[in-house]
Amino acid sequence: MGDGGSDTGEDPMLDSLICVAGSSIKRSGFIASHSSDERERRVIFVNAGGEELRRQGHSEIEVETDRFFQGGDVLRTDEEVADGGDLPSIYQSARCGNFCYEFRDLPPGDYSVDLHFAEIVYTNGPRGMRVFNVFIQDEKAVSELDVYSIVGANRALQVMNIPVSAGKDGVVSVNFQGVVGSPTVSGICIKQGAPELQLVSSGRDGKSLLCDNCFAPVKLTAAENKAARMSFTAKYEREIRELKAQCQMKQDECYEAWMSLTAANQELEKVRAELDVKFFQNFTLGQAMEKETEKMAKISSKYEHDRRLWVAAIDELERKMKAIKSEHSQLSFEAHQCANSIPGLNQMVTAVQSLVGQYDDLKMKFNEEQERRKKLYNQLLESKGNIRVFCRCRPLNMEEASSRPQTVVEFTDAKDGDLGVLMNGSNKKIYKFDRVYTPKDDQCDVFEDASPVATSVLDGYNVCIFAYGQTGTGKTFTMEGTEQNRGVNYRTLELLFKIAEDRKKTISYDISVSVLEVYNEQVRDLLASSPPAKRLEIKQVSEGVNHVPGVVDMKVENVDEVWNILQTGSNARAVGSNNVNGHSSRSHCMICTVVRAKNLVTGECTRSKLWLVDLAGSERLAKTDVQGERLKEAQSINKSLSALGDVISALATKSSHIPYRNSKLTHLLQDSLGGDSKTLMFVQISPSEHDLGETVSSLNFATRVRGVELGPAKKQSDTTEIQKLKLMLCQLKCKDDTIRKLEENVQVLEGKTKSKEQFSKSQQDKIIDLENQVELKAELCGHLEKRLSHVYEKMQRKEEACYSFQQKVISFIILATFQRS
Ligand code: ADP
Ligand code: MG
Repeated sequence: MGDGGSDTGEDPMLDSLICVAGSSIKRSGFIASHSSDERERRVIFVNAGGEELRRQGHSEIEVETDRFFQGGDVLRTDEEVADGGDLPSIYQSARCGNFCYEFRDLPPGDYSVDLHFAEIVYTNGPRGMRVFNVFIQDEKAVSELDVYSIVGANRALQVMNIPVSAGKDGVVSVNFQGVVGSPTVSGICIKQGAPELQLVSSGRDGKSLLCDNCFAPVKLTAAENKAARMSFTAKYEREIRELKAQCQMKQDECYEAWMSLTAANQELEKVRAELDVKFFQNFTLGQAMEKETEKMAKISSKYEHDRRLWVAAIDELERKMKAIKSEHSQLSFEAHQCANSIPGLNQMVTAVQSLVGQYDDLKMKFNEEQERRKKLYNQLLESKGNIRVFCRCRPLNMEEASSRPQTVVEFTDAKDGDLGVLMNGSNKKIYKFDRVYTPKDDQCDVFEDASPVATSVLDGYNVCIFAYGQTGTGKTFTMEGTEQNRGVNYRTLELLFKIAEDRKKTISYDISVSVLEVYNEQVRDLLASSPPAKRLEIKQVSEGVNHVPGVVDMKVENVDEVWNILQTGSNARAVGSNNVNGHSSRSHCMICTVVRAKNLVTGECTRSKLWLVDLAGSERLAKTDVQGERLKEAQSINKSLSALGDVISALATKSSHIPYRNSKLTHLLQDSLGGDSKTLMFVQISPSEHDLGETVSSLNFATRVRGVELGPAKKQSDTTEIQKLKLMLCQLKCKDDTIRKLEENVQVLEGKTKSKEQFSKSQQDKIIDLENQVELKAELCGHLEKRLSHVYEKMQRKEEACYSFQQKVISFIILATFQRS
């Protein structure tokens, strides 16, 4: 054991150990010896990693440039090396790493090797510590040099006098290859001769001491020995303690590391699970993307298809439009030509306009004339009292029409109220009525004339309208009508409500309706839900006012209710009868409308009645033809109709006694026949020759009612007023014809000019329509394109999301692999 700590005494940090016999450590740089012997012993001195050095003087030194080496690297520093001795600069360079030096051509024999080391700051390894394990090979064997040295920074160190020998080959090699640590050698000096071995005896036994490792004899005093041992023991105990503490620390660290590793593993597991989820998500996303892509492909193909269709449609439309435009221009050209070809068109137009003006004037005059005529006519009627008789002839029925039709009625002067009846072939009798309706006149025409009489009930008049005639001549048709072709009853009540509504600000009306039937001189309530306990009787409640106690008097608010009541009555008429038509033709149906009016301005109140009567058939039956019930019926009808005739003629002759009470019918109608009341009779006739007898009978009765018998002779004796009116009517007819002709002319001309205009207008409309269609389609196209680009954008976004997700997944994988490794 060598004492490397001689300079620093007890400092254990500066311990050194050298295990080669004869060698020693010196903690300073090279000092040249003054003895020439020493100088002569130096064979080779190389500056490892450095240049050649030479120092002249009494102790001349020569250091060769770095040679004889194999491998290793050069280290150099400008730092000062402490205790550099006579050659401090050799310690500023070194060879390091894996290398060896081989000195050749040396004369065989023993040599000593000095190795110069230096700590060079900021080289590899901890500051100030070097571990050398140097093998020096000589001819015979491998000798081992162990150097353990701790030195200060930038301090020179020499391991001196390592014994080596050169064989016959004259080679000495100093090998630093495979050495533990990082040997850094600044210089090597080969000296001739083996180092001197100094054997020292110990103070106690006087024996020499050998190194435990290499059995080299070492020089040691007893005190030194003890101190060294104690120092070593203390040092090692301290080191053991430190090591234990370090071990504990490391254990803790290990535990912590283990824990963190577990946590990391758990984290890793989590990450892995997440990764799996992400993988799955990615997979589903991928699938979704594939689907989306497919969808997109479909959409885009559909879009492409649609687009092509649209384009084709637009092309088609454009083509059509072009064709229409050219057609239009052609037409307008033609129109111009047409206009040009009629030079007098403008004159014609003005002529037409003047004609229209004339026509308007004439029309106005005509209307005025008609008004005047109406007034005169009304005056005429007024002059005749309050009984009006309208004659209505039904059309031939199917049966009559199919056989050879023989009509006995003539309507040549029907407009003047004249009805011609052919008696016995050629003999024609003229009947005069207030109105004569031909089979062609409809319900509206009839009601138009009847309405002023009917609606006078609202002005406080009692009114009676009845239809008289042979069965099958249209009494029920005129009064009731059908649902599609309603008669006087419904139309009257409808109009009453309308007028009442119009007048509601000044007059309030209460309208109630009852429906009665007179059969075999008995009164029956058609609105009663159950048969009455006793017979219905007519009572006089006050002067001129009759009433049937116990009769249902339905208050009606609107026309719908009226229709229901009329239907109820009509249906009830049939109940209890085997032959509906038969029964109805043998009874009188009487609708009584009572109007209570209150004038809201004057406070005046009125109560008036309107009777609408569909009489039983007036045909007379031969007494031999009927018996029993039928005879009774016939007698009843005969009685009531005769009574009606008697009452009316008494009224016409202004007789002092009016025989109302002769029948239930006249008794019921008492307050509405005669006096201030207004009466309107429809005499219904058949055109057929077969019914001539009954027709003549009915017409005679009607004439009696009307109070004025007009035969052919009496016709002559018409008043001058009538003559004047006839003349006026002729004039009016002429004017009418002229106006009609003018109108026709105007219409033809207007039609001609208008048809051209209309044609070009319709073409223009078509063009506009097509243009609109084109615009719409273009809009739709744009809309579709927008949608497509939107879908593209969406797809791109999805792709981006997918890409970023893929990136994420990759980074996760990398992280996971990294953590696992
Ligand atoms: P009445 O009540 O007098 O016995 P109806 O009113 O029952 O006669 O008429 C007998 C038939 O003749 C019915 O079918 C009716 O529709 C038809 N009729 C009567 N008058 C006309 C007319 N002016 N136009 C068309 N058909 C009519
Ligand atoms: Mg009838």
